[in-house]
Amino acid sequence: MKYAIPVQPTTTLAIAGSEEVFPVHRIYCVGRNYAAHAREMGKDPDRDPPFFFMKPACAAVQAGEQPIDIAYPPMTGNFHHEIELVVTIGIGGKDIPLEQALDHVHGYAVGLDMTRRDLQLDARDKGRPWEFGKSFAQSAPIGPIHTVAQVGHLSTATISLTVNEQPRQTSDIAKLIWSVAESISYLSRYETLVPGDVIMTGTPEGVGAVVQGDVMRGHIDGLGEIVVRVAK
Ligand code: MN
Repeated sequence: MKYAIPVQPTTTLAIAGSEEVFPVHRIYCVGRNYAAHAREMGKDPDRDPPFFFMKPACAAVQAGEQPIDIAYPPMTGNFHHEIELVVTIGIGGKDIPLEQALDHVHGYAVGLDMTRRDLQLDARDKGRPWEFGKSFAQSAPIGPIHTVAQVGHLSTATISLTVNEQPRQTSDIAKLIWSVAESISYLSRYETLVPGDVIMTGTPEGVGAVVQGDVMRGHIDGLGEIVVRVAK
């Protein structure tokens, strides 16, 4: 087969302690999955079914303990951080039963769901799609993946983010409204999951703006740290 135009490369993520890399297929993101964050966004937290939005695979950028730069994106004046637990899918499936959902997990990582909040809220309030607020280049910095074989499954772990060493977000993944297993099971009823899919599980309270030159440091117990600077 001969392609008519240049083919974009597959986005990959590093796996901690491995030469192998994880090829990213799709990125699903859970909305409002911590009660205190739902409240700060002006919504009542509840056990309504989870909802999802997506980022393109190419939005993922490799982050880690060594600082990386991301660009301040165009068309926003309110660029927000959202620290999140990232789940990578190693085994696909559809209609996955809750009790088997974790068998599909390949690993976990620390990630940021960077958001053009002004564009997202404008779209939300007009009943329009969130894409311009959520789906753009470099909007998903993600640290090295820690495989289930290495770290098992996480049910409780501190998740935190500082900006310029000042605390912004601190919570525990035990406070997820929809657990990792529930999110996988639910999502798989709507779309057949395949190896390479990624789920960003939602952010706790404390989201806020960053500006050029700010340094974000995200951490989840057991998954290490990522350091991401907004380029000048
Ligand atoms: Mn998010």
